[in-house]
Amino acid sequence: MIISTVGSHSALQILHGAKQEGLRTKVYCLKGKESLYKRYRVTKNIVSMDSYEDLLGIKPESDEIFIPHGTIIATLDEKALEIPIPIFGNRQGMLWEMKREKNLQLLQDAVIRTPKSIDAENIEQPSIVKFPGAKGGDGYFLCTTSEEFESKISSLLEGGKITKKDVQEIQIQEYIVGVTMYPHYFYSIIYDRVEMLGIDRRYETNVDALGRISQEQMNITPSYKVVGNQPLIIRESLLPDILDYGDRLLESSKRLFHPGIIGPFCIELALTTDELIAFEFTSRIVAGTSLYIAGSPYSKILFNEEMSMSRRIAREIKMAMEQRRLEELLS
Ligand code: ADP
Repeated sequence: MIISTVGSHSALQILHGAKQEGLRTKVYCLKGKESLYKRYRVTKNIVSMDSYEDLLGIKPESDEIFIPHGTIIATLDEKALEIPIPIFGNRQGMLWEMKREKNLQLLQDAVIRTPKSIDAENIEQPSIVKFPGAKGGDGYFLCTTSEEFESKISSLLEGGKITKKDVQEIQIQEYIVGVTMYPHYFYSIIYDRVEMLGIDRRYETNVDALGRISQEQMNITPSYKVVGNQPLIIRESLLPDILDYGDRLLESSKRLFHPGIIGPFCIELALTTDELIAFEFTSRIVAGTSLYIAGSPYSKILFNEEMSMSRRIAREIKMAMEQRRLEELLS
């Protein structure tokens, strides 16, 4: 069995986890990016590509399984669903993740509180403005009134930073003042259970630097570009709600895109003083899982061994092979 992925995002972890479980590995790399995977010795099987689109023309090996991650979603968009290699997980999940309305629809179906949507004409509270296809929150802006919204949009249009089409697809939400947390779930078909293997918080530039300067000096537009991830362990009394959210999202996914999410998923959460609110969900491995290559406190309790998310994926594949159920995990 060969586990393959694309060389970026969480590829080091994905290949390392597969090797830990004794599976062979392969990475598809943009030309010039190969050396990282050689230096960390996670695979000897490196295929160079000119662009991510080359993935769509790959002829897979007969026993190859592809692990999708965030770079696939961000670069290939809907074409990600056409990758000609059997994928670990449900391809439909990628579509539900990348389409903002579908993403919210799934959360709402699971009765998970999401930020309120706000009309451009009725902005009366701190609001966050999101453009389609933002990568890691890059390009979002904040405003508190409709006038401020209009003037910021005009200057972005004038500066050529956005198009009129972008403006039509804009989403305005109430700004949630809460601490963010990103639980890493794994739905195991073999055990028929949702496991919560770890939690991280994102370290975003420049918003995470703003607390270091005083309010008076601040005429700065916050940005939300992820630069890394920090580990998080949460109060034990919060765990039942976090687990419940994972279970509910899974059940809704089964209803909305049968057979639903398979394997890793994440809900991007913010905890305010009294509510647990979800920004969005992801239907594949998130980069924050790479914090826990040697296992997290939660995965240690569950497995009593060094169980990273990618090792968990490889373990599930191995168990499914033993039980002749591999087909159920792939799409
Ligand atoms: P992307 O889809 O590009 O990853 P997200 O919607 O996850 O973007 O948002 C990126 C970041 O922006 C989040 O991690 C969070 O810090 C911030 N964010 C998004 N929505 C809100 C909101 N309604 N209130 C406050 N912060 C938000």
